[in-house]
Amino acid sequence: MANKLLLHICCGPCSMYPLAQLIPQFEAENITGLYHNPNIHPIEEFVRRKENAQLACDHYGIALVTTEDFLQDKWAKYGPEENKLRCRMCYDLRLEYAAKYAKENGYDAFTTTLLVSLWQDHDYIIQKCQQLAQKYGITFHYEDFRLGYRQGQQMAKDIGLYRQRFCGCMWSAPDELREKLLANYNGKV
Ligand code: SF4
Repeated sequence: MANKLLLHICCGPCSMYPLAQLIPQFEAENITGLYHNPNIHPIEEFVRRKENAQLACDHYGIALVTTEDFLQDKWAKYGPEENKLRCRMCYDLRLEYAAKYAKENGYDAFTTTLLVSLWQDHDYIIQKCQQLAQKYGITFHYEDFRLGYRQGQQMAKDIGLYRQRFCGCMWSAPDELREKLLANYNGKV
């Protein structure tokens, strides 16, 4: 068992169940959260999710590292029908950062809260993490956190975390917000 773990955290609610599973195995002081999610648009949403990731980590006594990387251009260049390509780019970018950061900062293993989602491409995420583990010479800690998805959402509700209603990027936002984000991006407003 690796003893120092970096957990890529996509948002506070998605971290609740994985952390409850990981802490008995690694102990809280050996786990660090990493909030690196340039895919969250607009900036207010990016900040709100980061703050709630912090609240979740505070709840468990876990350290959290955050990055300020907020990128919209990378997502805007995909068309609305290019979901698969866009989501893979989105996973790749975040997971690559996590694996590299873990290796460069002395962690034994890394994993991600993306594995708790019932809507993400679970198999692709596993495959990508395995590739990155090989590339960087670090362990990928896999667990099927989907088993506790609903439990985790309830845990988030119980401690008052903000629970967003869209995945993150402009293409996944509710209609009205998406139109506004696209119009802004195209310089029309
Ligand atoms: S839908 Fe979600 S996973 Fe796909 S590109 Fe947008 S934020 Fe990333």
